[in-house]
Amino acid sequence: MNVTTVVPSDKKSVFPQREDDKSFAIARRLKVPVWVFDIDHSRIAFANEAACKLWNADSEDALRARNLGLDMSITVAKRLRQYQTDFRVSDAIFNELWTLYPNGEPKSVMVIYRGYVLPDGRMGMQCEAVSEAEDQPHNLRSAEALLHTDVLITLFSKEGPPLYLNPAARNAFGVQVKSLAALFVDLKDFDSLVEQLEFIGEHRVVTRVRLANGERWFDLSAKACSDAATGQPAILLTAIDVSELKEARDAARHLADRDQLTDLHNRSYLQNHLTKLASHNTKSQCAIIFFDVDRFKAINDRYGHEAGDAVLLQIAVRLRANLRPADLAVRLGGDEFVVLLDDISDMSDVVHRAARLHKSVSQPVFQDNTVINVGTSVGVAVFLPSEVDFTEVLREADIALYASKQTGRNKVTYYTEEMGVAVKVREDMEFELRRAIERREFALYYQPRLDIRTGRIVAVEGLARWNHPTRGIIMPDVFIPICEETGLIEDLGRLVLELGCKQAIVWRKAGVDINVSLNVSPKQFGGLTLLETLSNFAALPDFPKGKVELEITESVLIGDHSSISESLRQITAMGYRIAIDDFGTGYSNLSFISHFPLTYLKIDRSFIQQLPESGPIVRLILTLAQQIGATVVSEGVETTQQLDWLTRHNCDQAQGYLITPPLPIDEFNAFLAQFPE
Ligand code: C2E
Ligand code: CA
Ligand code: CA
Repeated sequence: MNVTTVVPSDKKSVFPQREDDKSFAIARRLKVPVWVFDIDHSRIAFANEAACKLWNADSEDALRARNLGLDMSITVAKRLRQYQTDFRVSDAIFNELWTLYPNGEPKSVMVIYRGYVLPDGRMGMQCEAVSEAEDQPHNLRSAEALLHTDVLITLFSKEGPPLYLNPAARNAFGVQVKSLAALFVDLKDFDSLVEQLEFIGEHRVVTRVRLANGERWFDLSAKACSDAATGQPAILLTAIDVSELKEARDAARHLADRDQLTDLHNRSYLQNHLTKLASHNTKSQCAIIFFDVDRFKAINDRYGHEAGDAVLLQIAVRLRANLRPADLAVRLGGDEFVVLLDDISDMSDVVHRAARLHKSVSQPVFQDNTVINVGTSVGVAVFLPSEVDFTEVLREADIALYASKQTGRNKVTYYTEEMGVAVKVREDMEFELRRAIERREFALYYQPRLDIRTGRIVAVEGLARWNHPTRGIIMPDVFIPICEETGLIEDLGRLVLELGCKQAIVWRKAGVDINVSLNVSPKQFGGLTLLETLSNFAALPDFPKGKVELEITESVLIGDHSSISESLRQITAMGYRIAIDDFGTGYSNLSFISHFPLTYLKIDRSFIQQLPESGPIVRLILTLAQQIGATVVSEGVETTQQLDWLTRHNCDQAQGYLITPPLPIDEFNAFLAQFPE
């Protein structure tokens, strides 16, 4: 035998004394070599004469004295233990090619092994050499490899029991395997294996296999062949245990496909899933239902991040509870979730299901004895996976979602093509605007303010115009809101301030005594750069201190009182004046405004246009302005009647089409020249 070390299981017991076994008496008379191997002690217990010859031993005693365990390899030792186990549970008989090393010389023999109970009751092994195999090294090596490998190698008849199991297979499957099919946990895999063998002759599959002690994942390779002994069709099967690999891979896949917090699928999984659906090219429609938690940031701020997480988890639970098997729930990230409805029958189905999902997620969440109200805004897009890709459909659902948010939140909106067009126009506009600001395609138009008492032009409002290279002049009501939404207002606002301040400097140098008022958006006021920008322009040479006014709306004054009045104080200290624009339309608390350094109140044109009906309000504003020492400007004066009324009621200044609409700088200068200085 190919031998290394064997540690006898029972170290203390001395090698059994010769104790002739009656059952071996017959063997002694046989001509074929027969011996009994004591597996526990790696010694030969009995041997007949032929066996002694085979083993090159002078006597049975000399043979018994040999310690075959001295250099028995671990695999051989393991295999012998396996045999021992097999013999205990069955009457198994093994027929194997073994290489013995009697006195170190290799000798290959075909040996039949069967269990043999030793006189002291332990399981030994009776070995019967049937023939000396041809001494071909190649054969020997392949046979040896078969015995030693950890790969499970088996030969199965098509339906019946195995024809051969190598020791590793015997160990794993157990000796009582009934059929190949019996190994498969998943019979579908078995069926397709049989089918593939029939058509292609071979097949490979990773599948769950039933073992003697449980189930594991195996990589099975099967080949159709015929049994060398009988010529009957057979299946040669090699099996490698890949459980660890598979589990590691599955775990990695799970991690990669799932959102960690909620264990819902993640964005990349959704993307792959949709790509797969698209490749199936089915004509069935799907729907993306896009959820976004309303004011999630406020929930986090108010109740803490743990509560925020609890809300997200609860939403995941609720979504899952409302899914059908083909649906998919995904957390895209943050407070955004998506449900994909696969194969929808009609629109009413989608509407019904979206409404139900929306209702279920928009329920309060109970966390640590507090009730957190949850609202979600939802956008739905219906699509054919083969026609609309992941990015596009998500965008559509997002546009619909945005519409939900814009129109009051906590509702479901369905994407329409018109919405898409509107968004596209806006986005193109944003892109163009960004470029236009960089290229400074803006100019100020100037609209004068008349001092009602003296009839002189005392101030002028700069109003932004976009000089579009192909579309001509574009009015601010088109681009200001987009700039405000996209944050471009900071850059545009800076440009307007620059143009206005520089014009004021030009007039100062030309000796024209006129105030210049410029509009500052509330969004700009909230930005970080306004104060710096203003101080830079105020530092320009010849900057006319006290002559540049900034028009802000009442909404700016709402909020953190002290920080606003501090900013306004800094701004006035730089030499600017503050005007309240569109006065009367906001929510100014009248006593409150007296705390701010306000120089001008511009009465909104809606009041002027409703004169004389709106007279009481206008008079009230005039009185208030007097109280706080502010100058009153009436905007949108279009008729002489309006101007008369304002003159009678002691309004300070008037601005409006009656005097002139806003003019480009050259026309304004020409206009100004007609007026008395
Ligand atoms: P606003 O500040 O109230 O500006 C006055 C608007 O009333 C101007 O419209 C002006 O042309 C218009 N107007 C003047 N007189 C009359 C009149 O007699 N009758 C009527 N019906 N309208 C009159 P415009 O230039 O289209 O500007 C619209 C708004 O865009 C402005 O309202 C202002 O809120 C905003 N805006 C304009 N330029 C800027 C800017 O540079 N920055 C910021 N943030 N907003 C600006
Ligand atoms: Ca204004
Ligand atoms: Ca105004």
